[in-house]
Amino acid sequence: MLDLDHPRTQHIFAASHQLDMILDMCKRITLSSVKGRRFRLEGIRQAFATLRWLAAHRFADEPHIADGIAELERQAEQLAALSLCHPISRDSLPERCPVCGDTLILPSEYSPTGYCSSCLGVIRAALQRVRSCEEGFGTEAI
Ligand SMILES: [Zn+2]
Repeated sequence: MLDLDHPRTQHIFAASHQLDMILDMCKRITLSSVKGRRFRLEGIRQAFATLRWLAAHRFADEPHIADGIAELERQAEQLAALSLCHPISRDSLPERCPVCGDTLILPSEYSPTGYCSSCLGVIRAALQRVRSCEEGFGTEAI
């Protein structure tokens, strides 16, 4: 549980907001066309820049966080570069993942964005690292 009076807490929330945006966009990437994947990846570059700024200026005593951010950005790039094996329609959610053919996680009240959990696994380890209290911003404590 976070101490809301601690001076660093507001920065942890700021990092959490950026990581939520990155996760949401990575979910969308899993169901995007080749062009859409590149477009969405560019859309989260600013979130990575903000995370790097937070790490450098608000978590300066934890320089390892920057390594985790770089790893997460590389993995998001890998996710966006996966080759599509199945056709994708602009108008409707595909029935199966356009990359791996796996069953999709459908939109729900908890995740309004449908996605492929298998493909999202590409970023899972780095995202967990950047969220962790030991190696990252500690957003997992929120
Ligand atoms: Zn997939």
